[in-house]
Amino acid sequence: MATQPRIVCMANQKGGVGKTTTAINLGTALAATGQQVLIVDLDPQGNASTGVGVEARDRHITSYEVLTGTATLGEAQIQTAVPGLTLIPSTVDLSGVEFELATDRHRSHRLARALEQFPLSPTGRPLDFVLIDCPPSLNVLTINAMVASHSALVPLQCEFFALEGLSQLMRTIELVRTNLNPHLEIEGVVLTMYDRRNKLSAQVEQDVRAFLGDKVYRTKIPRNVRISEAPSHGKPAIIYDHRCAGSIAYMKLAGEVIQTQKQRLAA
Ligand code: ADP
Ligand code: MG
Repeated sequence: MATQPRIVCMANQKGGVGKTTTAINLGTALAATGQQVLIVDLDPQGNASTGVGVEARDRHITSYEVLTGTATLGEAQIQTAVPGLTLIPSTVDLSGVEFELATDRHRSHRLARALEQFPLSPTGRPLDFVLIDCPPSLNVLTINAMVASHSALVPLQCEFFALEGLSQLMRTIELVRTNLNPHLEIEGVVLTMYDRRNKLSAQVEQDVRAFLGDKVYRTKIPRNVRISEAPSHGKPAIIYDHRCAGSIAYMKLAGEVIQTQKQRLAA
């Protein structure tokens, strides 16, 4: 693929909707198909770092150093156990960034600036995808992610009020577009924790597809216990159990993401 990676942030101001799970498993699935993928953990909780097996004691140079300008992306990037998948880890230090950058006029562009270097993977290959995992709030971290990204991928949990949350997110993206990053697109909306037996899931799916049309991925991620077990083993679900329904769904999602990217590059 191209030398410039596609930079995609996992966006949804709600917590518990599957942002981190999607960053980890979409990242792993893309890497499994031969793409070079970097996950940037931009949540002080560090769940994406834990989920790909990088324990707190092994997080030496983190997204905190990258945002505050004391380390480059290349210096912070570490190889995970998954071939083709690298990580910029995070620790709780990151929660201090809001305060530390309060008087910096360029605080919203810190990650974008850092990403301008487009580091190579540790094996010397150019990155194809950068996936940014955001915290569940609209703060300077999330804004940095949206300013640095080509697009936002929205994990949407099929529940009551899903559409209200979605329109709020669309307004936020519109605001970022107007003020900070005119190029920010919607990469796609992925329905997560889908329950076939629950009528509400089907209703939410219908409404979201009516509202956003082909911006909604055909692939739905089912509610799947293997997906929720995997992080406690420090493994992406796709490595923990590649045959479970959740892993298969994330592989399919990766197929859709790659397909869209191929069309984009050919255009
Ligand atoms: P967010 O990053 O948006 O806060 P997470 O990805 O951490 O959300 O997901 C919230 C919780 O739901 C986690 O415990 C995760 O393991 C679980 N989870 C996410 N997706 C699924 C799924 N498809 N099936 C079952 N559990 C899931
Ligand atoms: Mg998360």
